[in-house]
Amino acid sequence: MECQTALENLDCVRPDSDDLDLPEMAAARAHLESCDACQEAFAEMQDYDRAVAGVIQHVDVPAHLRSALLDAAPEKVASVPDSVDAETRTDEVTHTAFGSRRRALAIAVSAACVLMLGVGEWLRQSQPMQFAEDELLQRLSLDLSSTKEFDTGFEFSLPATWVGNGRLRVGREFRGIDLDDAAGHDAAVTVFSYAASRNTSIDGILAAIPASRVQPPPNSVSFAQADSRYIEKDGRRPVVAVWQEHDTVYVCLILGSAADLEQIQRSLSTSAA
Ligand SMILES: [Zn+2]
Repeated sequence: MECQTALENLDCVRPDSDDLDLPEMAAARAHLESCDACQEAFAEMQDYDRAVAGVIQHVDVPAHLRSALLDAAPEKVASVPDSVDAETRTDEVTHTAFGSRRRALAIAVSAACVLMLGVGEWLRQSQPMQFAEDELLQRLSLDLSSTKEFDTGFEFSLPATWVGNGRLRVGREFRGIDLDDAAGHDAAVTVFSYAASRNTSIDGILAAIPASRVQPPPNSVSFAQADSRYIEKDGRRPVVAVWQEHDTVYVCLILGSAADLEQIQRSLSTSAA
């Protein structure tokens, strides 16, 4: 018997079984005893099968998937016609068994892969919820009185141009807002006041949200360039600008007009020297 034929036959031997003692394995067994290369290859095959069996046993296949797999299983060894003479049949049986067992293994492995993908999908879904801009604006509140102190669950700093402008006073304390049902604050919000003239101030809120939570990302990359628009909010019509700087998305929302917001944008178009 040649090595290849011997190995094809030996491939049907289940690990840790008596399969090798079967009469149809006699020739392969005899070859194995006299061939070092096949002994080595056979040992590797058995290790591989053992490993695959180990993996499959630890995967809990859902009932509906199990029956689908069984339906998809290849035709059985028993389908070999009786008319073929005994010797050929043994050969056929061995080869069919070889083929179907490999295919069954392949199916089992792909089932395991499907399950792994399922786990991946589940992990992906358990990632923090993302918000579209409009959704985000819906969930932000103008009224910070019922909010708690920001839990510092994420890091951010003030937008670059919002620091060091004499007309702008930004609240020192940030409040936390929960946008989803998961624990922890998802947005940090503070109040600000811009001195438009000696007697007039424009008040609003500034919110900071990790950019990873906003999808799609805002078009603007600076406050000065951000489009302003009116939104409906708690029966009022505040003006809002949304932009992203580095890893943070900012929302500036004022109770005033678009012209008021644009005035602040012009004033904060450059960092104060
Ligand atoms: Zn050999």
